[in-house]
Amino acid sequence: MLLAWYSRHRRDLPWRANRDPYRVWLSEIMLQQTRVAAVIEHYHEFLRRFPTLQKLAAAREATVLAAWCGLGYYRRARMLHAAAKVIVREHGGKFPATEEGLRDLPGIGRYTAAAIASIAFDDPIAVVDGNVERVLQRISGRRLVGEELWTTANHLLDANRPGAFNQAMMELGAMVCTPRAPGCLTCPVTELCATRGELAATTKPAPQKKREIHYGLNRRSGEVFLVQRAPDASLMPGMWELPELASTNGTAAALMTLRHSITVTAYTVYIWRVSPPSLIRGKWTPLDRLKHVALTGLARKILRKAELL
Ligand code: SF4
Repeated sequence: MLLAWYSRHRRDLPWRANRDPYRVWLSEIMLQQTRVAAVIEHYHEFLRRFPTLQKLAAAREATVLAAWCGLGYYRRARMLHAAAKVIVREHGGKFPATEEGLRDLPGIGRYTAAAIASIAFDDPIAVVDGNVERVLQRISGRRLVGEELWTTANHLLDANRPGAFNQAMMELGAMVCTPRAPGCLTCPVTELCATRGELAATTKPAPQKKREIHYGLNRRSGEVFLVQRAPDASLMPGMWELPELASTNGTAAALMTLRHSITVTAYTVYIWRVSPPSLIRGKWTPLDRLKHVALTGLARKILRKAELL
């Protein structure tokens, strides 16, 4: 729903023309503390003067600062220049392709690293900026803070198209779920949203619904059985998880139990060691491949607790 809305309604911005990490990075740095309209003016000119990372790295600092003129906050330009030099000197001119690698570069914090990694390299990691934060608060109906925001964003992330998903969330916050008078009537996620309007400053945390949920953890020589969520599922489409079990006989003999919250629902999760139901289509996945699989947050949590990940 969100991705379909994004592909129809997204603004045609110059840095969305392709996924070149240099162009994505430049736009993300320029957009810090600067309005979109002002960035558009300077973005083309900067790229005309420094069309590649190598050209930027080889430039004198004074030339880079001159090209930045009009955007303000010159520390960003200095860091951009320093990072270009590090990439050329230490990475052979190639951007690190993961959020972790990008965070080692000058001037790249958690948000910027996640934005570049997901948009340019499909790294399945969510971003949280001011717009995403507002959307998450309203969808959850709660004041989320700190790490809770990142965890919630990662739960919702479509790991098959993380870059598009992240841009869609930011676009939704900028264009529909605006600080004042959000456009809930045209919002693509209205059915998932606990607030459907502005979250009052005094809003008490929405009472969480409680639910029990059961999963089967099936192992055989170095492999675990996983199933894929439907491509049209409203949450986490296409991601991999353990097979959900419809019913069990009591909960006393569960392999393990854990708690998990997603937006307004608090789950008690029971894990069972059972053979995969014959009708379920899934995949035996080698344990050493798990870190490359787009797992749901809950599947990751279970596999970690079972010491398989
Ligand atoms: Fe924001 Fe309204 Fe959409 Fe909820 S339904 S996410 S409040 S625009």
